[in-house]
Amino acid sequence: MSRAGTRVPALADAGRTPVSALSGVGPKVAEKLVARGLATLGDLWLHLPRQYEDRTRVTPIRHLRGGVPAQIEGVVEAVEKGFRRRPMLRVAIGDGSGGTLVLRFFHFRAAQVAQLAVGTRVCCFGTPRPGQQGLEIVHPSYRVLDGDALTVLDDRLDPVYPAVEGVGPQVLRRLIGQALDRLPDAASLELLPAGALDTLDLPILRDALLYVHRPPADADLGLLASGRHPAQRRLVFEEMLAHHLSLRRQRIALQAHRAPALRPGTLADALRASLPFALTGAQSRVLREVSKDLAQRKPMLRLVQGDVGSGKTVVAALAAAAAIDAGLQAALMAPTELLAEQHAQNLRGWFEPLGIRVAWLAGKVTGRARATVLADIASGAAQLVVGTHALMQANVDFHDLGLAIIDEQHRFGVHQRLALRDKGAGGERVPHQLVMTATPIPRTLAMSAYADLDVSAIDELPPGRTPIQTVVLSSERRPALIERIRHACTEGRQAYWVCTLIDDSDEVVAQAAQTTFEQLHAALPDVRVALVHGRMKAAEKQDAMQAFKRGDIDLLVATTVIEVGVDVPNASLMVIENAERLGLAQLHQLRGRVGRGTAASSCVLLYQSPLSRMARERLDTMRSTNDGFLIAEKDLALRGPGELLGTRQTGLAEFRLADLARDADLLPTVHAVGDAMLSERPDLGDRIVTRWIGSATRYASA
Ligand code: ADP
Ligand code: MG
Repeated sequence: MSRAGTRVPALADAGRTPVSALSGVGPKVAEKLVARGLATLGDLWLHLPRQYEDRTRVTPIRHLRGGVPAQIEGVVEAVEKGFRRRPMLRVAIGDGSGGTLVLRFFHFRAAQVAQLAVGTRVCCFGTPRPGQQGLEIVHPSYRVLDGDALTVLDDRLDPVYPAVEGVGPQVLRRLIGQALDRLPDAASLELLPAGALDTLDLPILRDALLYVHRPPADADLGLLASGRHPAQRRLVFEEMLAHHLSLRRQRIALQAHRAPALRPGTLADALRASLPFALTGAQSRVLREVSKDLAQRKPMLRLVQGDVGSGKTVVAALAAAAAIDAGLQAALMAPTELLAEQHAQNLRGWFEPLGIRVAWLAGKVTGRARATVLADIASGAAQLVVGTHALMQANVDFHDLGLAIIDEQHRFGVHQRLALRDKGAGGERVPHQLVMTATPIPRTLAMSAYADLDVSAIDELPPGRTPIQTVVLSSERRPALIERIRHACTEGRQAYWVCTLIDDSDEVVAQAAQTTFEQLHAALPDVRVALVHGRMKAAEKQDAMQAFKRGDIDLLVATTVIEVGVDVPNASLMVIENAERLGLAQLHQLRGRVGRGTAASSCVLLYQSPLSRMARERLDTMRSTNDGFLIAEKDLALRGPGELLGTRQTGLAEFRLADLARDADLLPTVHAVGDAMLSERPDLGDRIVTRWIGSATRYASA
């Protein structure tokens, strides 16, 4: 599918050496790395640390601060093993500085218990958090010190890399180290024209990479954590440039194609007449924009942004009707099975009474049923096809696809959606594409993030919605809140309880959700409680969600797996734990799960005191408005320099490093340099695209 992926590199480039060339990488490890998109040395160079550990010094226990990672040296003073709900090992250590630190383990082996006997000296590293008795570190990395050996201090900061499943952190660190040792000299690595480097005033690529992977002991960790260190900015710049170039190229290539001209006919009219509601002004406007594109003989590529509940689906359905009216097929792809199934139900309800055949395809459709669906898609008997990623698989062959619709596009990524489009390509002709997202993006950013798309906004909600009341509560008020939930549930309302943690690991979040589930289950004996989290099997998740949807469950304890598109109109109460740790966009998405019916809905944002000023402002924004676009603007404004945020919060495209909110100030230069390169040095531009998205693209299309 990708021009970037199939292009042969102009120069032999060390970056394109496969990871299997590194010592210690056999077929097994290589497979794990490739599965994570790390196929070449170049991919490893760009697999940047998500944080650093400072083992260049030892911090006295007395000086530890909650939330600040540190290295500690001390003597085991007490050991306690517990097996109340689950195994637990508590090891208290002291260092004579006048404090005690607790190391807490939930997974441990007998050998570890023996090793950590009272009197043992250990050196450990981790992030202390306030516990029941002073600070504690859960699952620190540690080493037992022999006799009176001292901790060996490092002379530079240790990178902590985003995890790769099946490859331990130490191994990964060593492999990336090896890859860096093979970095070519500065001149062969550099792809930015000299002029661009001058205007930018940022380091050359080689220096930037080495600094980010191996910062010196005196590096400014705060600046690095903000992602705004010049070395990081240099990498971000090149990545944004790569995306810009790639999008521009795609747009140019797309415009060279033809598409069928589609005009709404009798089906579209009949569908519109059969709807139980009238379109909102915003829906009508966006539908006009879409229809105008569809009537052209060149392919539409339009993004419809609309807040949760703004009614994007019906606009998509009316566009699909125009394709079917023209005797062609339409397809709708959604990122999760749950969401796709929901769409299939809605669309069947609308289309089948009008005599249109709607087919459903997902991973779990197998055997004879799958063969039938595939045959119907191939013969054209299936006029509208709804499904998940399964639609992109090689054996799915459309008879004549006129329109490809992709819901919640941010979950797929810019490059993946092309796969579905290519499904319908016949000769010079490609289908029109409509992509929909509920993640509102400020207009300026949308233009850049989607340099290859036209953008429409449904900026009005259907009438009759009662706005969601949002309340911000300290987690100390939990007991009263649980009481309130009991009350609501006994009155027939349904509620979500969302557990969030900033922790990257699914496991810890799932554990927290499990604990909350058990607590709520115990506290609310007369309420039917269920649990969904990302570690459950797809079928289990599905069952729990369906039971909730049917009304067989009153209270659903969940992790953010429920974030996207789930529609349970009777759910009118939501609690979000640790709300202060989430970004505005994510809070808004989560909150959008309630307020979908006519009942008055509320959302309770629970926070842990004390709140930072920034966090307070974020929560205040959530309390004061339900307007997704306003929230998006505010989000951008609040995430100024210095705010520590994930790099991929917006989920706009599969950026490795760039964060369009944080790095928006680079965009004008990205555009200027990119456009100059397209006309003057397209060869360099091609290599930048290959370097940053080449293999990722190949991966996505696999
Ligand atoms: P989203 O934009 O979040 O995908 P949906 O398309 O799921 O929103 O629509 C949310 C709900 O609003 C659905 O139940 C849908 O039938 C309903 N709806 C859509 N448009 C209108 C309208 N103009 N008037 C009333 N209800 C509408
Ligand atoms: Mg939707």
